[in-house]
Amino acid sequence: MSVAPLNLYDLTREQLRALFVSWELSPVHAATVWNYLYLRLAESFSETAMPDLPVKVRTRLSAETSIGVLPTALETDSSDGFTRKYLLRLADDERIETVLMRYTGRVTACVSSQVGCAMGCVFCATGQMGYTRHLTPGEIVAQAVHVARALRVPPASAVCHVLRDKLRGEIPASCHVLRDKSPGAQARERAAAARAGERLRNIVLMGMGEPLHNYDAVMHAIDILRDEAGLALGGERITVSTVGVVPGILRLAKEKRAFHLAVSLHAATQTERAALVPAAKKWPLDELMAACRTYSEATGRRIFYEWTLIEGKNDSAETARAVGHLLRGLPAQVNLIPLNPTAGYAGAPTASAAARAFQHILSSEFKIPSTVRQRRGIDIAAGCGQLAVAEANA
Ligand code: SAH
Ligand code: SF4
Repeated sequence: MSVAPLNLYDLTREQLRALFVSWELSPVHAATVWNYLYLRLAESFSETAMPDLPVKVRTRLSAETSIGVLPTALETDSSDGFTRKYLLRLADDERIETVLMRYTGRVTACVSSQVGCAMGCVFCATGQMGYTRHLTPGEIVAQAVHVARALRVPPASAVCHVLRDKLRGEIPASCHVLRDKSPGAQARERAAAARAGERLRNIVLMGMGEPLHNYDAVMHAIDILRDEAGLALGGERITVSTVGVVPGILRLAKEKRAFHLAVSLHAATQTERAALVPAAKKWPLDELMAACRTYSEATGRRIFYEWTLIEGKNDSAETARAVGHLLRGLPAQVNLIPLNPTAGYAGAPTASAAARAFQHILSSEFKIPSTVRQRRGIDIAAGCGQLAVAEANA
């Protein structure tokens, strides 16, 4: 029976070192390989990708390990050029979504933690597709590396406009890089060129899946992402979003892990919440709020409370006041996200005036800070799980 090669993205720097020691190879080579993986973002063990490796090291790596690069199955840009969404293919042919976002000058990767999700939130495309499997740490790390690598590639037009002019008229329609661009596409590429030099700064675990349902793999991946000798995404730059898995939140409180926590609330009473978020039946609102309090007390950290605004459902002034009372005395910031419509749910997004009114009540009556997230990328189905659904239906 063949054994799947060890995915190097699964290993912390220390584990990579230990592997080399177990092979009776110098730890110096382990450090070199680590640098190739996370500073050069190497995709293979070739001499071009990893020049300074003795033959015996390259041979051993090639024979027993792999670099778990995730090929792109589909890639789409939002019309405003601020969001790029990747559907990435896993080794078992499953698909996950990773999104590169550029909000207010910050480059953020939104990564998945599972294929599908078991939590079944009614408005969520991932919830609607059900649970398939957990991601490995390496599959989580590979998404961040994918985005970091994408940021390094210069914009297509900057590279090839000379060639494009030469070949004008002879370029097949399927060749997206060289094809003539529409004025909109050209503007986006100019904007991309202006941004050249940017690099991955932030990670949010807000893609497909429930991170605290896959706790150990997610924490292991975060250890790798944070490594200062690697991608160096410090704790202040990482946000884990949970639907409210109470045991996971209590474990985070105990382990005092240094990153931001976001809790998806969406409703201020148990009955209303259970109708939107079935997981609330297992972890009721009062237990969730108690866990959040424990977390904030243990870590001294404020929690971001996510609130998907659904017209006529959870966006009234009365609901805003209920949220204010629920969060009173807790270090909190509320992130209001107008619903991204999905095929499996009939709700509509709250209009921006109503979203601002909701926000105003939180700030003026309860002194709770909040943001309304712009719905950039909505035209490329950038709501969680939506691209995977779109591809499956194509
Ligand atoms: N499972 C985790 C993280 C992934 S979902 C969680 O639920 O927190 C990330 C965020 O996107 C959550 O706040 C979720 O409620 C929100 N979300 C999911 N589907 C959405 C949609 N169709 N429109 C707006 N927000 C959505
Ligand atoms: Fe899962 Fe989060 Fe979607 Fe709910 S919102 S189904 S927890 S991914």
